[in-house]
Amino acid sequence: MTEKIEVLRRLQSIDTKLRRLEGDKLYISHDVEKKRDDIKRKRDVLAGIVAETKNSQKNAGLKELELKTKEQEINKLSVQMNQAKTNKEFSAFKTEIGGKEADKSVIEDAILGLITKYEEMQQRQRAFEKEIEQEEGFLKELQKKVEDSIKEIDTKIAAFREKRNKYTSLLDDNTLQQYSRLVSNKDGIAVAGIINKVCQSCFMSVTSQTINQLMSKKDITFCHSCGRILYLDDGSDESEEL
Ligand SMILES: [Zn+2]
Repeated sequence: MTEKIEVLRRLQSIDTKLRRLEGDKLYISHDVEKKRDDIKRKRDVLAGIVAETKNSQKNAGLKELELKTKEQEINKLSVQMNQAKTNKEFSAFKTEIGGKEADKSVIEDAILGLITKYEEMQQRQRAFEKEIEQEEGFLKELQKKVEDSIKEIDTKIAAFREKRNKYTSLLDDNTLQQYSRLVSNKDGIAVAGIINKVCQSCFMSVTSQTINQLMSKKDITFCHSCGRILYLDDGSDESEEL
């Protein structure tokens, strides 16, 4: 018959591996989330660029209208100037036209600036769209890789769970309850080895009485300091099959 403590050691080994595998799953899923967040941030930046592009275009359009109005005003004034009866009237129109021409030139400069900005923004927009497209390609690849890894991990987890069932079926309810309680309360480690009379979980010395109790192999023994189930660690591998 297998000793209770040997079963517990193997159960502990399996549970530690299961915990690690669950941790791995979380860890690799986190990579996908991070990439997704990156892309979301870039999409927000892109939305800002698109808005700015549209705005430059709209402003250029408004300035074009302003320019047209100014040109109409100049044309009207030119007609009036040519119909001027006196030199004074003529030069008054001429001055007014000169002022409007100056306004026109300012508007034209503004339009040129806005068009330049619009073209720059368009270029930035296209570059950013391309970058995001690329990132989404990477994300897809990463998702596929992560899915495959998770599938692989799940297969391992299923195999360990099956083994775990085999070991728990060898234990009485009371021992299993004690073990489970320790796993929940002691950071997943319920079983601790003793090397040179020291508990390898809390690193406190154990008494000779504890050692004697362990040598007699009568029942499970607990560490007086950390409360974990103890075994004498002779360096044998607990992951060996029973
Ligand atoms: Zn201890």
